[in-house]
Amino acid sequence: MIVDCHFHVDETMLTLEKMIEGMDKNGVTKTALIAPMNETMFEVDSTFQHYLQGLFRFLILYTPPFGYKIYDSLVQDGYLKLYGNTYKIFTKPNNEMVADAIDRFPDRFLGWAAVNPKLPESLEEVELYLMKPAFIGVKAHPFMHEYSITALDPVAAMCESKGIPMLIHLSSEPDSYKYLPENYPKLKLIYAHAGIPFWKKCWRYVKEQPNVFIDTSSDYLSPSIVKQAVDYLGYRKILYGCDGPYGAKEFNHYDYSAKKNWIDSLQIPDEQKDYIFRKNFLRLIQD
Ligand SMILES: [Zn+2]
Repeated sequence: MIVDCHFHVDETMLTLEKMIEGMDKNGVTKTALIAPMNETMFEVDSTFQHYLQGLFRFLILYTPPFGYKIYDSLVQDGYLKLYGNTYKIFTKPNNEMVADAIDRFPDRFLGWAAVNPKLPESLEEVELYLMKPAFIGVKAHPFMHEYSITALDPVAAMCESKGIPMLIHLSSEPDSYKYLPENYPKLKLIYAHAGIPFWKKCWRYVKEQPNVFIDTSSDYLSPSIVKQAVDYLGYRKILYGCDGPYGAKEFNHYDYSAKKNWIDSLQIPDEQKDYIFRKNFLRLIQD
């Protein structure tokens, strides 16, 4: 049994029916959905792109200042720029799409309510979605929505008081991974994509924080980075997720087995994998 903590709903890329099919084939009982962050974005299948992704990871790991520069250049004026292609970023997250998906498959989907603190009505809207029992926490994206982590003060305070988790995709703002744990010590936090762009620096910090976790989602990562994260942090700090349908190369073709293999291939006992695949996340949303 597997629960995926990080997946987007975007039926221009992958229909819900196809998602369920892929989940069934791979033993995924439930998926926590997030509104789409940007317009339809299929992966370009090329060795050049593969090489660039590898270079990007290398720079972040071994020469962070250069890596952060490249990372920052991916988002410009409300657009995501990847390998010569440009995709519009949605300023206002469409949480209704997540609510609809849950209505269609209530046994299979949970929801993150996505917030953009730059929109005055956003916090109120998120609180309304959180009244629905299938909505389990708040997703925030300081990287794509281009704001300082401090803009999350009101929403972090709200999540801490409700005892629900936040899932955050960090920007390169220096030390931003420390801000929320220091100011909201009881807040449950998950840093998406293993704490990109900070990775090792972030792991050193996360290891000492009882309420902070990372997920293993997305092609930003690689099997080797996931292995390093698990070796360093241990299996109790890591949550499985895919970040699909991003990474799909064509409509209704998403390979669930790829991210699952990243965990399956780890040299750790199955009962530890079970924490990564399911137990760590369930504890966060059930306690
Ligand atoms: Zn995502």
